[in-house]
Amino acid sequence: MSNLLKDKNILIMGVANKWSIAWSISKKFIGEKANVTFTYFGEKSKANLEKFLKQEGIENATLISCDVTKDEDIQRAFEELKDKMGVLHGVVHSIAFANKEELQGFYYNTSREGYLMAQDISSYSLVAVSRYAKPLMTEGGSIVTLTYLGSERAIKNYNVMGVAKAALEASVRYLAVDLGPSNITVNSISAGPIKTTSAKGVKNFSALLKGFEEVAPMRRLVKTEEVANTALFLCSDLGTGVTGENIHVDCGYHIVG
Ligand code: NDP
Repeated sequence: MSNLLKDKNILIMGVANKWSIAWSISKKFIGEKANVTFTYFGEKSKANLEKFLKQEGIENATLISCDVTKDEDIQRAFEELKDKMGVLHGVVHSIAFANKEELQGFYYNTSREGYLMAQDISSYSLVAVSRYAKPLMTEGGSIVTLTYLGSERAIKNYNVMGVAKAALEASVRYLAVDLGPSNITVNSISAGPIKTTSAKGVKNFSALLKGFEEVAPMRRLVKTEEVANTALFLCSDLGTGVTGENIHVDCGYHIVG
């Protein structure tokens, strides 16, 4: 621990349970002395967050409800955040959703509704969040989102989410251009597969994990903490010159898989 995030106000979006990538990032950031605020979606996620924070000995953390499909919810969440923190230095966007039925079989069977929902929650939300975060990032800042290789390659069963992730990564580049003059960086982390609630929605996810381990240069799965370390780098003063980037934290799988 080197207090890399001391005096930094960070918003973390997307902790659902102890397996969530966002929770691993939260623990890392709290350990580095960040002042963390959370948004949650489901009531179950809120209860989990309350329990975990208590376990970590964190009192008085602000938890704000936010459904990213609703602009008014995002706006209200950032108003609450402004009241609480004033200045914002970082946002971790760790949110995605697609219908389970569309994370299997033929991509051409994706429904219009399912396509739009995956794009809305998993991709457009970063655009809206960035818009509301910008006025609070008066001292510059860092916006980080989570993506997956299914954006660059056609990965079996990832289907509609791969297309949403491709849009998300393109958004990262456009947002980086928009926000660069305000000294705000925007980057994505392309994580290797990790067993989380969302990931389990992808059909045959365990086969994907097995194939990954066999092929990845490091011959192992990526650890959630390694993803959190990269988020820490990007949100700390170590990562200030990096923007519009997609950093693969996947034990090298993307160069060979
Ligand atoms: P989780 O299921 O733990 O996290 C997904 C989060 O998205 C949950 O907190 C969920 O809230 C939230 N969410 C869904 N819909 C909404 C909504 N309408 N408004 C606000 N929040 C919403 O899974 P992960 O930790 O795996 O996923 C985090 C990110 O990492 C995602 O972008 C995912 O695509 C990405 N990623 C995951 C990989 C993996 O293998 N696990 C690999 C590479 C990237 P709730 O549960 O309360 O509904």
